[in-house]
Amino acid sequence: MSAAPNGAGFFSFIKSFASPVLEFLFPSHCPACGAYVEARGEWCPACLSNAVRVRRLPLDASHQGVLDEAWAFGLYHGALRNLLLPLKFKKRRDGLDAIRTFLDEAGGRLPRAEWMPGVVVPVPLFTGKEKERGGNQTEMIFRDWLEAQGWTWRRALVRIRATEPQFGLSAAMRAENIKGAFALAGDVSPEEVAGRTVLLVDDILTTGATLAECARTLRKAGASAVSAWTLASDRL
Ligand SMILES: [Zn+2]
Repeated sequence: MSAAPNGAGFFSFIKSFASPVLEFLFPSHCPACGAYVEARGEWCPACLSNAVRVRRLPLDASHQGVLDEAWAFGLYHGALRNLLLPLKFKKRRDGLDAIRTFLDEAGGRLPRAEWMPGVVVPVPLFTGKEKERGGNQTEMIFRDWLEAQGWTWRRALVRIRATEPQFGLSAAMRAENIKGAFALAGDVSPEEVAGRTVLLVDDILTTGATLAECARTLRKAGASAVSAWTLASDRL
């Protein structure tokens, strides 16, 4: 056995020295109002409180019975949108600390009944798109946070065909565009899904068509209940 420090330990050792220096050179700002805050990833309390809008979303008739419930943690505008867009389209990870602070606050406002850690499945990207983006943004947002609280992260779904961007399509067109786009991942055994309650996670909910199609795929594989959490939505 080697006595060398492991990589993570060494990294946090360096970080413990680097953080105060970085903080001096590049002071941290609240992502909403720009005021100075003590540490990277912090918000001022009033802005954080404003941004967190945990709510259960109304589901379209066609998604009821497929998705049991869907929750959003914030509104898709302002600071949250500004944190999400560079992560999604510009491979910039510097907003993740502030998103994590946001999740901690939002998680505390979810009803306790929602917190029964089980299997959590991210909405998958088409392989080419995930490579182009340098990862799946939903995984970057939720994985560490949920695993730290006992959830089992499972990439149980794959996207089996590229789809047109949902942006700008009507609700009917979105549903048609996404139909049949997902399948169970090749390494998933039936008992991982059959008879289980599954939580789907995605970054944004617009019409819910993508989440509903994922839920349909999981139900075909025998999932007994499927609900969804999203970071942000413009639905009220
Ligand atoms: Zn602020």
